[in-house]
Amino acid sequence: MRSTFLSIILLLAACTPAETPAQKAPVDFDGFKTRFLDAYWKQFPSAAISVGYGKYYDELPAPDSAYFAGSTSFAERWLDSLHAIGSGQLPLPERISYRMMENELRRSIWAIDTLQDQRWDASRYNIGGDVYAILTQDYAPLDARLRDLSAHLARAGDYYAAALNVLKDPTKEHVQLAIGQNKGALSVFGQDLIDSIAKSTLPETDRQMLNQRVGDAKAAINGYIAGLTNLLSDSTVAFRDFRLSQALYEQKFKYEIVSDMGPDQIFQLANTQKDKCHREMYTLAKELWPKYLANSPEPADSLVMIKTMIDRLSLQHVKPAGLFDTINAQLHRINRFILAKDLFNFDTTASLKVRLMPPFSSGVTMASAEFPLPYQKTSSAYYNVADLSGKPPDEVESALREYNHWMLQLLTIHEAVPGHCMQGIYTQREAPDKVKAVFANGAMVEGWAVYSERMMMENGWDGDAPEMWLMYYKWNLRECTNVLVDYGIHRLGWSEKDIRDLLVDQGFQEEAQVREKYRRATLSQVQLCSYFTGSTEILALRDAYKKKMGNSYSLKDFHETFLSYGTAPVKYIREAMLQ
Ligand code: ZN
Ligand code: ZN
Repeated sequence: MRSTFLSIILLLAACTPAETPAQKAPVDFDGFKTRFLDAYWKQFPSAAISVGYGKYYDELPAPDSAYFAGSTSFAERWLDSLHAIGSGQLPLPERISYRMMENELRRSIWAIDTLQDQRWDASRYNIGGDVYAILTQDYAPLDARLRDLSAHLARAGDYYAAALNVLKDPTKEHVQLAIGQNKGALSVFGQDLIDSIAKSTLPETDRQMLNQRVGDAKAAINGYIAGLTNLLSDSTVAFRDFRLSQALYEQKFKYEIVSDMGPDQIFQLANTQKDKCHREMYTLAKELWPKYLANSPEPADSLVMIKTMIDRLSLQHVKPAGLFDTINAQLHRINRFILAKDLFNFDTTASLKVRLMPPFSSGVTMASAEFPLPYQKTSSAYYNVADLSGKPPDEVESALREYNHWMLQLLTIHEAVPGHCMQGIYTQREAPDKVKAVFANGAMVEGWAVYSERMMMENGWDGDAPEMWLMYYKWNLRECTNVLVDYGIHRLGWSEKDIRDLLVDQGFQEEAQVREKYRRATLSQVQLCSYFTGSTEILALRDAYKKKMGNSYSLKDFHETFLSYGTAPVKYIREAMLQ
């Protein structure tokens, strides 16, 4: 299959320069994409698992230097094949897929050769997520999945040995994260797995081998944890700074955000938006003061006044036991609102499941969303809600104040509808090809969820209540300050104290959130900029599209058209929609 394909590409390459695009034989671009993706999943089997591809789950390549060299030459070969086709003759939607593949291939070469995070990010190495997916994904019958698992685990020893070996220049922060997350991975090898093996009809010898490999895999994980723990206590190890250099930061922004705006411009815009939030919040707090705090004198400092009002409103929140039902009820209310306001052609019976967060992924977050798997037709979007039972009461109270009566509504809008879950359902169903679903652009995905909050408010969500607007701006401030935190830490050398001053005094956040945000900013780079950048671009595109369409503009048409491009970068969608 591979050799046939390569000869087709060579043929194309040979005749391309001599012919003008008009004379060229039509390219089977769908066939090209299918072959490329299959090769891509084979090269990166962990990525195949994350999109539900259902093939190559038995593979677990050891992350040694030969594998990384092989991955860059893989990407270079496919870039050549792609360029041999050229984008000029392709119809516009296909040109978007072309550019997404091109960007992904260039990004992966850059990541291995230049960013080199395989040498410094110890948390990249963890088999827990893939093992959990093989056990729970509905891609094949249980016996077949356990056979995949057995083959997968047979390589765990080599995998972790290579990982320790390739980590030449680790950061302390990622080593600590890797230790914690690999300890979490051990929980995947618990009672559920033992039960699954017992339930299967695998021959006895296969079962014994699988049990043996489970034991070996746990030993390999423990070996990795021990190796990393030794690194931390070794006084001769010089850890790398977690901050990226200016050049690396800008390149990462270019490959991951994919925007015409650069980090400097986004930083400026986020600062301006922060000031705007403060002005709006001050007006709202003043308006609400007589209703809630009539007996207290108004603080002279506007930020103190805002903070006082937020604290007062935050006392209104659900009881821990009512969280799940409240969120379900919100979802129904949102669906009715969307229909009444004619915002989408959304089929509200689509498969969106609200469930308690699976223990493996549960942590400090109140809720999270999972897209349906692009390759699994029947898979659902999940809106995961934290299970608060058994958590310390003061932690629960603090979390519920943060996700108070109003913030909880914004959370559901962001994570579920019309935010992540709904977008995931559109992408799975309507994207004309898999490329637009599997190489999801993070700024588009987060930007869409952030745009959704704004759009719901503009349409009068929750009766246009001033309380709702005040909390909306608090939420929006988080998205602006995410940019300031990321850029501040990596580009301006801000300390943890600088971050605390910003987030507490100007972002009205609590100590626990501030610690978590600082930690996250030391472990990721650029990602925190995706929310604000994506939403800024979507709002600008909506303005331009409105102008273009004139009298025939409708908000629903904008939404339906925009989402039909899958999760492509907003910049590419913009070119298509404004053409
Ligand atoms: Zn309370
Ligand atoms: Zn999000």
